[in-house]
This record gives sequence, C-alpha cells and structure tokens, in this order.
Amino acid sequence: MNHNLFETFAEKMQARGAANFITTPEGGHYSYAEALARTERIAGALKELGVNPGDRVAVQVDKSPEAILLYLATLRIGGVYLPLNTGYTADEIGYFLGDAEPALFVCQPNALESAQAVAEKTGCPNVRTLGTSADGSLMDAVATAEAFTGIEQRSDDDLAAILYTSGTTGRSKGAMLTHRNLGSNAKSLVEAWRFTENDRLIHALPIFHTHGLFVACNVVLMSGASLYFMSKFDVDTIIAALPGGTTLMGVPTFYTRLLQDDRLTPELTANIRLFTSGSAPLTAETHQQFEQRTGHAILERYGMTETNMNTSNPYDGDRIAGTVGMPLPGVEIRITNPDNNHHEPLPQGDIGMLEVRGPNVFKGYWRMPEKTRAELLDDGFFVTGDLALIDDRGYVQIVGRDKDLVISGGFNVYPKEVEQVIDEMPEVVESAVIGVPHPDFGEGVTAVVVLVPGKTLEEADVIKALAGRLAKYKQPKRVFFVDALPRNTMGKVQKKQLRDDYKGIYS
Ligand code: ATP
Ligand code: MG
Repeated sequence: MNHNLFETFAEKMQARGAANFITTPEGGHYSYAEALARTERIAGALKELGVNPGDRVAVQVDKSPEAILLYLATLRIGGVYLPLNTGYTADEIGYFLGDAEPALFVCQPNALESAQAVAEKTGCPNVRTLGTSADGSLMDAVATAEAFTGIEQRSDDDLAAILYTSGTTGRSKGAMLTHRNLGSNAKSLVEAWRFTENDRLIHALPIFHTHGLFVACNVVLMSGASLYFMSKFDVDTIIAALPGGTTLMGVPTFYTRLLQDDRLTPELTANIRLFTSGSAPLTAETHQQFEQRTGHAILERYGMTETNMNTSNPYDGDRIAGTVGMPLPGVEIRITNPDNNHHEPLPQGDIGMLEVRGPNVFKGYWRMPEKTRAELLDDGFFVTGDLALIDDRGYVQIVGRDKDLVISGGFNVYPKEVEQVIDEMPEVVESAVIGVPHPDFGEGVTAVVVLVPGKTLEEADVIKALAGRLAKYKQPKRVFFVDALPRNTMGKVQKKQLRDDYKGIYS
C-alpha cells in the first residue's frame, strides 16, 4: 500500500472534479481537476530537474496558488517539501540550504541573483523561480515538461516535509514531518472542526508555516472544501471576503485588527460557521469582545511545527476563553515537573511542562540527533517547552514558554499572570513581561506596555495598580512604555528581542 499523503489528496481531487479548489481576489482560479492535472505537469518538471524521492525541495516564494501546487507536486514525486519564510535574508537562506541540502531551490524571480549565489556556496545544484502570476523559470519548465501521472511509493514513516520552527526562542530547527504526521492530523481536524465540501476557507496566513500550509491547506484538501486565497492579511480584503466564506483561520492579531473596524458586525459574519485562532495566545479579552461584536466564539487551538495540532476547543460545547481546549483524538498530553528529568505526571491542576505523544508528533529535528534525543523521549512523548496546566474540566491552559519563565529571587513568575493584570487596566492595550538580569534577584520582573492611543500612564501608576493584586515578588521592578510590541509574521511576541533590548537596565 502506498502511504504517500498525496494519494489521499489525489482521490479527493479526482472526486471533486470541476468543483472549485482555489480562487484569489485577483481572479486566479483552479478547479480540483485542473489543480490535479497541474500537479502532474509540475511533478514532471521536478523529475526532469533531477528531484528524486527523499530529496528536499526548498521553496521561498510569495503566496500563490501555484506554490500550493508545487507543494502537492513535491509530495507526488516523493520529495520532501521545505518551505522558507519569505522574510529570510540571503544569509539566513544560506544556513537553511547548507543544513537541508535540497536538490532544488525555488525562489522569487526578483531574488534569483542572490539565490544563485547562495546555492553555489551551499552546493545546491538547481535554482528555479516562481512568481505570483504563474510566472518564472519553474513554470517555463512546467510548460514543456512531460506529465508524471504516477504517485511515488512512500511509507507512512517517510518524510513529507521539513518545516523550520519560527525561531522565537533561538535558531530555527528543521522539524522532520512524515506522511503519517500530516495525514493523521489533517484527518483529525476535518472531523473535529466538521469540514465538508461546502466549506470555503478564507486563507490569509503565510504558507511557509504549519498553520497556513498544513492546518489550512491539508484540511481543505482532505475534505474537498475550497480556498479563498489572499496574498496577505488585509482588513479590507478580509471584510470583503467574509460574506462569501464559511470559515476563517487566524492568528490573534487578525482578530484584534478586525475588532478595530466598525464594519465587523453579526451581519457581516453571518455566513461564517467557524473562526479559529492559534500560533500565539488569544487573550480572553479578544475572545470576549469578538463574541460580543459578532456572536461567534472563536475556537482556539494549540499546536506547533513539531507536532501539528495537539489540542482544540470543542466544535460543540464550551469554547473557553484563555484555554486551548482538549487533546485531539489520538493525542496524549501529560504535564510533568520540569525541574527534574523524571517526566512523571504532576497532580491535576499543577503547572508544569506540557509533553505530547501521538501520530502527529514529528520524527525528530533534521540533523540534530542530540536535541532530538533530549526532547523526544524513549516513550514517545515530546517535550514541547510550553508550560501548561489541565483544569478540572480537562481543558488545557498554556501558561507560557519554559524559556520565558522569570525566576526572581528564587521564585517562579509566570509572565502571563502578570500580563493579564496589567492588561486589565483601561489605559493598556497589551503588555509583555520578561525577566532581565538583576544583580540581587537573578532576574528582575520587567513589564513592557502598550497604551491605548491618547492615554497616558506613569511607571508608578502601573506598579501601584498591581500592588494589591499580585504578590510582591511578581510585581514588575520596572515598567517601560512602547508604541508596539515586536512581533513576527505569525503574530508571536518576540520576547527574546525584548530581553536583549532591556538587558542592561539593572546593572
Ligand atoms: P522556536 O521553536 O523556533 O523557538 P516557535 O516555537 O514559535 O519557535 P512554532 O512551532 O511556530 O515555533 O510555534 C509553536 C509555539 O507557538 C508553541 O510551542 C506555543 O508556544 C505557541 N502557540 C501555538 N498556539 C498557541 C496558542 N493557542 N496559545 C498559546 N501559545 C501557542
Ligand atoms: Mg518551538
């Protein structure tokens, strides 16, 4: 039996025939049958370029339907898809190409020169381009290539993709994802979120990340739904799209930006059956405001590059703000003591390290055997690096990252707890609490705060407001005001950068 994930997709694509697979606001369109035929041609071109089963295909291109077809064609020929953040510079690309040794690097037409230089330096044998209007030298090769109508044989443990993590806590690591990892998770999500052929997913996420690529596209392909594909998140385009869609997958900033727009109403969102959020914590406040404004309770879920999705709030039943729901079917979660190496579950309700096991959990970090051994345990559990608790209803609450935990005077301070209290102040939009080296305390609790435009607050006001609310050791020693928190493309607050920015303040 062929366990190539593309086999499952191809069956669906065949069955859906003339039905719509993907459209763009610019008028781009592929039916399922057209998309399937196109993957045969792209697969043929990849073969002619010498890409063999198991070879990596590195891709750094702007969003377009053809980029998704390239992903599918790579699976079809048994290749390993390796998408790269479009924000990476030539130097950064050098690291990824050197690390992954792809057989082919597909870049944007305007980046060809630097891409070729990097390819030469890293020994990558082929560079082709793919533009956003189905243009570029890869597409030229596709025009003359002979179609490859087969589907290369893969076992479920063979790699389908290497996806680099977001680099929030350090250098990005290549997560090796198998056909079973991706297939099992897509199937679970289709069921958990009730995707059908009638769904039309508004897609405004990047496609170099697990959320926009695997969660969104694999779920659509697995269910035969369709994609409304926008080049990026833009409030006006989303608002124009909402009446014609049935579902939107977003990062929290999508929702905070939509909330700032008066056009967001129950009428505008009446056709949407599901809003989901992930990749970064959705504040309870945003969840509640969105529900008040639209009548929709955003479904928050939790996942990561290494594991696909782990938990989800229920489709039916309470979607509880500030939680990421319960483990998906087949996924096991345990909360363990991070201070020793025993990995024994803590009593229910205690905060500890979130560990996860299931068919969704990756095969290891590409060319990092030691890191893999340290984080992927013998019993199959993966140590996520996220601190969490499971509440008495069985809902998981992510408390923050292990690496963001502040230890001040020997006491653990969970940044989220402090941030929540600061965020409740009416003058405050949001905050980030970090630990900064401190001569007496080891780390000093430090708050970085964004104010509502036009409002003012002094450092002392914030400290005073927290005085009665939080134990002394949790109270920030210093408070700084900024216009915006540094975020990456997935809306993740870059605490590493904040720690660097403020590192000298107590010395
Ligand atoms: P790196 O591992 O390179 O430091 P990263 O962990 O940000 O980067 P991703 O795999 O993109 O890379 O992100 C996964 C992380 O995102 C999770 O470990 C978790 O910390 C966070 N995350 C995802 N969804 C949620 C959520 N719903 N609530 C809180 N945090 C979330
Ligand atoms: Mg991570």
